[in-house]
Amino acid sequence: MDNDTTKEEWKKKLTKEQYQVLREKGTEPAFTGKYWNQHEKGVYKCAGCGTPLFSSETKFESGSGWPSFYEPMDEANVQEEKDTSHGMIRTEVLCKNCGGHLGHVFEDGPKPTGCRYCINSISLDFDKE
Ligand code: FE
Repeated sequence: MDNDTTKEEWKKKLTKEQYQVLREKGTEPAFTGKYWNQHEKGVYKCAGCGTPLFSSETKFESGSGWPSFYEPMDEANVQEEKDTSHGMIRTEVLCKNCGGHLGHVFEDGPKPTGCRYCINSISLDFDKE
């Protein structure tokens, strides 16, 4: 699964809920996803294509109800784009390999980066260490 995967192929691979977030830029309701309150060590990967995206080492308690990280594992694996939808100016975060929508990044995060990657649980799969 990558940037060349068709809409039909994505619909086969993903659940309806995953499709709405990853491919149609939806947002899961806060405090409903499976990872916002998870504290185990491991790697969070793209639920669409398996690319490693975030490490539990950079996960922090944001209070937002979505899993939050202060930096990606590898900047080469994520893409950031300006998003002006819903009357806000935000920075969207996407999986670089498959173009899947992950969430948004804000500049109110903790040290050392000051960034808060606010990511939908449903866009992620977790590999326990
Ligand atoms: Fe992906």
